[in-house]
Amino acid sequence: MTEPAPAPEPDDAAARRAVVPVICYPNETLPVPDLALCARARAGAVKVDEVTVPPREAACFRVAAGQFFRITSVEGPQVGDLNLWNANDLSERFYSGKSRALHGTHLTKGERMWSSFPHLRPMATITGDTLEWYGMDAFGGSVHDVIGTRCDPYTGNLLSGAQYHHCCHSNLTRALADETGMTLREAENHVHDVLNVFMCTGFTRDTGQYFMKASPVRPGDHIEFFAEIDLLGALSACPGGDCSSEHTSDLAPCHPLLVEVFAPQEGTLAGWESPLPNGYDRSHGRGS
Ligand SMILES: [Zn+2]
Repeated sequence: MTEPAPAPEPDDAAARRAVVPVICYPNETLPVPDLALCARARAGAVKVDEVTVPPREAACFRVAAGQFFRITSVEGPQVGDLNLWNANDLSERFYSGKSRALHGTHLTKGERMWSSFPHLRPMATITGDTLEWYGMDAFGGSVHDVIGTRCDPYTGNLLSGAQYHHCCHSNLTRALADETGMTLREAENHVHDVLNVFMCTGFTRDTGQYFMKASPVRPGDHIEFFAEIDLLGALSACPGGDCSSEHTSDLAPCHPLLVEVFAPQEGTLAGWESPLPNGYDRSHGRGS
């Protein structure tokens, strides 16, 4: 059998490529978070919990609706892989792909982590980001992406035959199992694509490949969230460290990450209500 010839360019190829793109999901009608209210509530908030995530490990934390949580780089540059679940129903979890479709490839202050179908509501709103200044660099790289998945042992095995156990996927699986009493197999089913906290990533312009580069994060940098619903979170201090060279090994220098939870003073969230699940009737065109 002969190889089919590559499809020839049509005569109007240049015109077709020149078509101006349109935004898939114009987001002007998204519900707007009340950042001023959040700022007032945050001003008098007191710390109620903290968890240190060891390097190449993960840890869970819980945040009640209306509280804040902050992830801080400590000791050295380090990226984190963040999973979020509804603390009362683990089937509602962070939906990386839809958050990307709504906000773009990287999240920052004022943007939200949205939950899976059929809920599709804000789980957490980013209320502070000390790396907001980074913007988009000349390579098309930016910080806090929702384009990667999470480093995992299966892809490592596929590419190199490795058996490595401290990928974020496995770290998150162990942490969730320890927190809930689930078996590893049960917990693994709940682990999902992450918000890549502090990670600097993009797609190469020529080949469209996912790239990473040394994170601009420095000790003291942090990203802060307002919990829109009761949350169970899990954060992995990625074995990639600052992700300047590689992951899926113990070679990169790694550092801990700090998670702190803050409770606002009574009454400072007056007028705020936890968002309801999505309003679609779920009849899918077949009546109710
Ligand atoms: Zn990782």
